[in-house]
Amino acid sequence: MLFVGTFLICLFIFLMQFLWRWVDDLVGKGLGMDVLAKFFWYSTLTLVPLSMPLAVLLASLITFGNFGERFELLAMKASGISLVKVMRPLMVIVGLLSITSFYFQNVISPNAQKELGTFALSLKQKSPELDIPEGAFYNDIPGYNLRIQKKNKVTGVLHVALFKGTWDEDEPILVRVHSSCVTGDIFGSKRCDCGEQLHKAMEMIDKAGKGVIVYMNQEGRGIGLMNKIAAYKLQEEGYDTVDANIHLGFDPDERDYGVGAQILREIGVHKMKLMTNNPVKRVGLEAYGLKIMENVSIETTPNEYNERYLRTKKVRMGHTLHFTK
Ligand SMILES: [Zn+2]
Repeated sequence: MLFVGTFLICLFIFLMQFLWRWVDDLVGKGLGMDVLAKFFWYSTLTLVPLSMPLAVLLASLITFGNFGERFELLAMKASGISLVKVMRPLMVIVGLLSITSFYFQNVISPNAQKELGTFALSLKQKSPELDIPEGAFYNDIPGYNLRIQKKNKVTGVLHVALFKGTWDEDEPILVRVHSSCVTGDIFGSKRCDCGEQLHKAMEMIDKAGKGVIVYMNQEGRGIGLMNKIAAYKLQEEGYDTVDANIHLGFDPDERDYGVGAQILREIGVHKMKLMTNNPVKRVGLEAYGLKIMENVSIETTPNEYNERYLRTKKVRMGHTLHFTK
């Protein structure tokens, strides 16, 4: 009992000392409980060989100190029991301890050290992760509120909602569900009309005084930036935007509007005036119990770079676009 106690105390002290060295590498990385538990387990295992001799030393010092203090050894000898006989249980315990210790040093410890080594390396390399809480809210953009809405637990993808004003429950408001487009929204590429549509939607919401833009983190109709660029390359070779996607092994439209619909419901949107030219989008949203009262077209003027792209959208994806050129 005493031995187990001292052993655990020694282990604890070593573990604390060990953690002190690691604390900088562990903090702020959003490590889950399972990861931490694994880390503790392996570090405990590697510290057992250190704690064992110390615990033996301490436990025997205390035991024999007690014996001496209470004259127990003297009493045992006085009653005619030989010292060898007195020591026999101790010898058995020491023997057992040695065998366990040998097994531990030989098998478990090297294994644990190896595991801890690779584990520690991956921990060090893991970059600090900002765990963005869902529903974080920011209202310092003039006229608009920004809300970090949903983070996909599997992919880590984050969607954002930008909204302006307040509305009643059954008041239809302007809504734009916009799929992110790095090339168009940020760099102002003229190959597509995304950036223009986004800014037009913001202007329209600004004019109406209320409305929501759900910015969906789904690049290139859901196929990702890399694939979008690959699709652009194919388009240079004569494919249109639909065929290029199919050629790369995707559906013409891989977007999932379910999350967008959930976000809208959470913000308190029930009826909307959807800003879109895309009829598929409407069906997708209606499936989630959101009522589309009106379809507000958000047409942009084609330019020489995106005319073919827009025509494909109109002819092959059924977008309601009215340009005549
Ligand atoms: Zn775009």
